[in-house]
Amino acid sequence: MDSIISKVAKIIEKSGNILFITGAGLSADSGLLTYRGIGGLYDDKHTDEGIPIEDALSGEMLAKHPEITWKYLWQIGSACKGAKFNRGHEVIALIEKIKPGTWVLTQNIDDFHRSAGSKNLIEVHENASELYCTKCRFRTTSEVFLAGYGTAVPLPPKCPECGGMIRPNVVLFGEMLPEKALQQIYRLESMKFDIVLSVGTSGVFPYISGPVILARQDGVPTVEINPCDTILSKMVDFKIKAGAAEALDGIWKEISKS
Ligand SMILES: [Zn+2]
Repeated sequence: MDSIISKVAKIIEKSGNILFITGAGLSADSGLLTYRGIGGLYDDKHTDEGIPIEDALSGEMLAKHPEITWKYLWQIGSACKGAKFNRGHEVIALIEKIKPGTWVLTQNIDDFHRSAGSKNLIEVHENASELYCTKCRFRTTSEVFLAGYGTAVPLPPKCPECGGMIRPNVVLFGEMLPEKALQQIYRLESMKFDIVLSVGTSGVFPYISGPVILARQDGVPTVEINPCDTILSKMVDFKIKAGAAEALDGIWKEISKS
């Protein structure tokens, strides 16, 4: 594995434009149990209500039974309380510092890339710390409005301005990607990258696996960092079978050697 890491580090050193595509596995190294970016507290299990977690966390459920969706949003929010970015996020931000043409496309909703210092960031599923009213223009954050999921409030939370329902600014299951994210993905696809790395993502969403497939078609080196095998594993030039923080730390050590 060390020789693959040093090969990848050498390509990064020669690259101007680098794309990192990140998913749940990267945040898992922060002790966050992740479920396709939303929280892995429920792997293969049904909820108390006897429905799959995807249904509980869907746009349809939020419309019909917001108290159910919010119950699980709350559980995930409080489980994530106190978690912060890890060495993996840090290394990606460090690489952007020396290579300003570095971009991050993430499906994570936890804000760790931003707090680690990444600037060129596309959050396709938006960000769970932002909240907004579904009826008026009221916007707030989970820190301010819900004491960071620290104090229990009646669910769903109500807007102080108009009494409408408050929801997190995230893409729930069954919801469309926001226009902003679609435009950013479209722009990303027109950029030329020198290397594309998929980190801790299963690649099930087409907008996550798409850039890897495009890079492959253009002969751009592709890397997957993931302890598990995914649909991308056989497609990439370099497979690093390891956790995200460990592998990225190894890459950074190689880069700082030279
Ligand atoms: Zn309102």
